[in-house]
Amino acid sequence: MHKPTLGIIGGGQLGSMLATSAKKLDIKTVIFCDDINAPAQNFSDVFIHGNYNDKNKINEFIEKVDVITFEFENIPFETLNEINKSKPVLPKPSVNRIIQHRLAEKDFINKLNIRTTQYTSIESKSEIETVQNLLPGLIKTVTLGYDGKGQHRVNSIKDLDHLNIDFSKQYILEKLVKLKKEFSIIITRFGDKKYEVYEPIENFHEDQILKYSIIPADLSEKILKQSKLWATELSEALKYIGTLCVEFFLDRNNNLYVNEIAPRVHNSGHLTINAYNVSQFENHVRAVCGLEQIQIKKICNAKMKNLIGDQINEYRKKKFSKNEFFFDYLKKEVKLKRKMGHLTILKK
Ligand code: ADP
Ligand code: MG
Repeated sequence: MHKPTLGIIGGGQLGSMLATSAKKLDIKTVIFCDDINAPAQNFSDVFIHGNYNDKNKINEFIEKVDVITFEFENIPFETLNEINKSKPVLPKPSVNRIIQHRLAEKDFINKLNIRTTQYTSIESKSEIETVQNLLPGLIKTVTLGYDGKGQHRVNSIKDLDHLNIDFSKQYILEKLVKLKKEFSIIITRFGDKKYEVYEPIENFHEDQILKYSIIPADLSEKILKQSKLWATELSEALKYIGTLCVEFFLDRNNNLYVNEIAPRVHNSGHLTINAYNVSQFENHVRAVCGLEQIQIKKICNAKMKNLIGDQINEYRKKKFSKNEFFFDYLKKEVKLKRKMGHLTILKK
């Protein structure tokens, strides 16, 4: 069988891990990224540097590949749609149009009768005064947020005086969920009712950034079943091809909510590289390149620890035991709150 060449838009750690998995499957990768220092160029076969609106560069990229995917969801819909006219983009661009906009995403989820936190669109300060039933809440930019960026906690209307929110942008106000747990489900969909679902991963955040993830998640049988059902329903409704992550909240009364969907491989799934026979990255490459679907099997329980900011320096010097796997993203610059690497520890 002729193996396609895979184009990946975005050159961060997710792009790196996708390229590494593709290599294992003997699939060539071309990374297109607007960052000249993109770490994924260390792992791909070809690297193209260019702005995401540079038509010439995009054409150069399209010519070199057979199928295109992406490692982050904030690529303009128009760009993906244009590319899709020449070479298939998977998952399809319409998925991104929904998910890159927090309001459209939550509307979509609720239409499927899947619970999210209560929310409303906010376009001015005075609008918040009329929806005080959603306080305490979180106000988030509707587009372009990640790792808690673009989010503000609003306990009461008085908080708005010192928050300096720029209301030239559109926001969503979400009621704060009294969290008992956060977890995620990663699913790779190959086609109609054809998917591989990883077991739920329990996630621990600090300052809205993922600190560590573990399997197995400590969940009741009921929650396990419900969350798995919702994850498969969401991926079916999107007619998704590739790996997707659904983030869940469980509140103190054991109510389950979908927090958000990531239309891509996900940080919480890094432990699948070492803990499963097929990782979330390999499965994504398999699905978008039309390769064989293999039944996934857990090899070991695991804990994944994100190495954030200057934490990486200590780990670069460390010695590891046989059940520890250190990943250095090879980012040129160490920055506060920047994900620099991770460590996976396998457990019995
Ligand atoms: P991001 O796109 O930055 O991942 P999220 O909406 O997932 O944005 O928010 C990041 C984290 O902030 C969540 O994982 C959770 O810990 C916290 N958070 C976000 N929204 C809520 C909410 N409505 N109630 C409670 N915690 C929340
Ligand atoms: Mg999130």
